[in-house]
Parts: sequence; structure tokens; C-alpha cells
Amino acid sequence: MKSEKSSLLRPSGRSRFKLLWRLRPRRVPIVYHPEVLGSVCARQSRQSFDPYKFKKIRTRLVREKLVSPKHLLHPEPASEEDLLRVHTHTYLARLKNPQVVAQLLHLDYVDLWDNYVLRYFRSMCGGTLLAAEQALATGRVGFHLGGGYHHAFPDRGGGYCLLNDVAVAIRSLFARQWVQRVLIVDLDAHQGDGLLEIFSQDPRVFHFDIHADSWITVEKKEQKCIALSHDTGDEGYLSVLSGELPGVFASFRPELVFYLAGSDPYQKDPLGPLALSEAGLLARDRMVFE
Ligand SMILES: [Zn+2]
Repeated sequence: MKSEKSSLLRPSGRSRFKLLWRLRPRRVPIVYHPEVLGSVCARQSRQSFDPYKFKKIRTRLVREKLVSPKHLLHPEPASEEDLLRVHTHTYLARLKNPQVVAQLLHLDYVDLWDNYVLRYFRSMCGGTLLAAEQALATGRVGFHLGGGYHHAFPDRGGGYCLLNDVAVAIRSLFARQWVQRVLIVDLDAHQGDGLLEIFSQDPRVFHFDIHADSWITVEKKEQKCIALSHDTGDEGYLSVLSGELPGVFASFRPELVFYLAGSDPYQKDPLGPLALSEAGLLARDRMVFE
């Protein structure tokens, strides 16, 4: 009786899909988690990325009245079961060591905050999964103002990425049989090496990746990875994207697309080696959506 009741309250699998479909909102779902890494990263000497960037996007969207705070969806942290679909037991145990976490985030120390950091990354996994569920349930698009931690491997992290939120979301959807074919469009300026490794033997996932040539770390023939020279600007970038992506959609015919809209191809990004303008980034995003 108890399990029946709890399964009604917390539906899973196809029943959750049907429930979400019935309750689907008319507005575009936007997922946002209020926790930021800023509390952990503030005032540390080796910090080289902006831990407040997702919060800044949320603030701008609200200020320009493009979204109301009450309509933002807040994710739950991903469950241990979902994390283990991608990451090893040993690695998840290692992440309980503050020194390991500090090293992966290029911080001087993490000390008391290790649980906070892990909760943040688990929430990023939960957020990407929730955005994907919303996209499927509404038949449209779901945004997550967060995530994109594509350098996390099953047994190790890297490049500020502890848990691979996109991989956790995809494996969770496969486990629930919501989708059979997923396309990853990874347009961060750095190659999504963790994602490529995780899905290298999985024909249900196709990975399309455009990145700067100075960052290639993985070669995968089955996927499409395009390396551009480090100073590529709008014209060169957009002509490659428009020439290659439609063919991938036509041949792979995905049921769901995960788009990693990295902002670091921007010419002024301190970590990005490409040279796109703001207008170029907007044209890139339009091209993917249209
Ligand atoms: Zn990047």
C-alpha cells in the first residue's frame, strides 16, 4: 500500500512522462538552480572562470521581463542511482575528499564546502535532466541555465567539471525508455572529451562537436568532431556549422537534442581560443534552433 501511494506521488518511467504531458505548461520551461559556485570560489587566487555566470543570466532575463522568477523550475539533485549510470563508485567516493575537489576546480582549498560543491554538481545533473524531461513532455524545448560539464569522465573529472550532467541525463532517459536516439550538439570552444568517451560505444548517441584545434584530446571516427583554427571568426565558424549540422540531423534523425551552447567561442572570453562576436554567437544559436 505504501509503495503504491509513493509511486502515485512520485511517478517514474512512462507514467511520469504521461503526467508531465498532461500538465505541460504553455510557456517555455526554464530550469535554474539558485545555488552558485561563487560562495566556494570567492576570493581564491587561482580562480579563472566566472562562477556567477548562470546567476547573471537569470538576473538579466528577469530584469528584461523575459521570464518571471515564479515560473523558473528548480531541480532536485540527481540521485545516486542516476550518477552511477555514468560515474564509478570509486570516483564518487573520491569526490568526498576536499583536496580532490579543490584540485579539479583549480582552487586553493575547498575545506568545509565539499558537501556544498557536490550538492551543486548533483543539482546541475538534476537540472539538465529536468530540462530534457520538459522538452520531451512539451514537445518543444527546455532550457537549463547551468550544466554543460562535458569534461567529466566516468572515473575522473577535469576542466572545472566534476559530474557529467549531460551524460547523467541521457543515461537516465534511456533507463526510463523515454528516448532511443539522442544527438549532442556541443559548441563549447573546447572538445567535449568526457561526453565523447562515455558514449563512444553507444550507437544511440551521436556527438557533433565544433571546437578550437588547440584543444583536441580525443579522436572518435564514429562521431563528428570539427577542429577550427584558434582565430576562426563569425564567417568561418558559421559556414562550417551551416554546412555540416543539417546533414547530421538528416542522417541520424534524433528524438532529442542536447545543445551545449558554450559562450567561450566569444572573442573576449579569457578561456576561449576562438574569435566569434556577440552577433556571431547569436547567429550560431539561431542556426541550431532553426
Ligand atoms: Zn569550454
